[in-house]
Amino acid sequence: MPTSRRGGGTQPPSAAISTVGLRKSYGDKTVLDGIDLHIPAGSVFALLGPNGAGKTTAVKILSTLISADGGQSQVAGHDVATSPDGVRAAIGVTGQFSAVDGLITGEENMLLMADLHHLSKREGRQVTAELLERFDLTEVAKKPASTYSGGMKRRLDIAMTLVGNPRIIFLDEPTTGLDPRSRHNMWGIIRELVSGGVTVFLTTQHLEEADELADRIAVLNDGKIAAEGTAEELKRLIPGGHIRLRFTDPAAYQNAATTLREANRDDEALSLQIPSDGSQRELRSILDWLDSAGVEADELTVHTPDLDDVFFALTGPAGVPNQPKETAR
Ligand code: ADP
Repeated sequence: MPTSRRGGGTQPPSAAISTVGLRKSYGDKTVLDGIDLHIPAGSVFALLGPNGAGKTTAVKILSTLISADGGQSQVAGHDVATSPDGVRAAIGVTGQFSAVDGLITGEENMLLMADLHHLSKREGRQVTAELLERFDLTEVAKKPASTYSGGMKRRLDIAMTLVGNPRIIFLDEPTTGLDPRSRHNMWGIIRELVSGGVTVFLTTQHLEEADELADRIAVLNDGKIAAEGTAEELKRLIPGGHIRLRFTDPAAYQNAATTLREANRDDEALSLQIPSDGSQRELRSILDWLDSAGVEADELTVHTPDLDDVFFALTGPAGVPNQPKETAR
């Protein structure tokens, strides 16, 4: 029998981050109302939610900056409440509360970090040079960080985090305020981190970002996880997916429309829409059905709702009928 980890309890040992019933309130405002998470090592997890949903609060609790009011969290096998030092040794945090000091140069920021991690002068210089090179900052290394662009500052911030060689990285809205090119750069950096085995806990307001990067996404709304899954799983939660068949020959269209009575017709466009969740299994059965009915369309396209639809349905007032509104202010 493998030895079970201290405090490992019911959680499989492969979880890099796990929480059970995590709660946090500020005054009478409940920000996190019982959050359960299980994030496998080596994966990218996105916590998605509108502004003020509690994403940063979750990151602060998991990175030991503030304490929770209730529930349990483990990060890298350490209990956040009882073993914060163990957690801190395993993680890196970057994001809204950036560690970059604008008054000193990028290189000095890095060397300071190396000092904090008790690296020798030589090691510190070596790691600094490597990371500045890797993040394309060598040329500006001797300039004050205050002169850097937003994208450069974020890259420096991540480079500083990596000095400690963390296995788990929290990225709190890493691309907020960046232009599209810097955002794509940042996505590349995040992918590279993950391919090196790091677990990434990402918070974002951008659906596209979660869709691009995350293995799993949890949508935080009103203090609770409104939905969790892969981007594809989340998209399937929302009705509106369909398969569209287009015909060029009106006679073929009429034939098909008569045969496929369940389909929604668009006589003008000579197209038929068959409701579908967009899954491979359903697509296969629809194709079989078309074959057996002798229907051959000129064009077949699959339309799945995008993450925007999911997000707005889950977090918008209209999509959540029983949404309990706190009487704030
Ligand atoms: P997000 O990161 O999703 O934008 P936050 O976690 O920053 O959300 O904030 C969640 C809610 O908690 C917000 O309503 C915010 O105003 C409130 N909040 C955050 N920090 C504090 C604090 N220190 N004191 C009081 N309220 C806070």
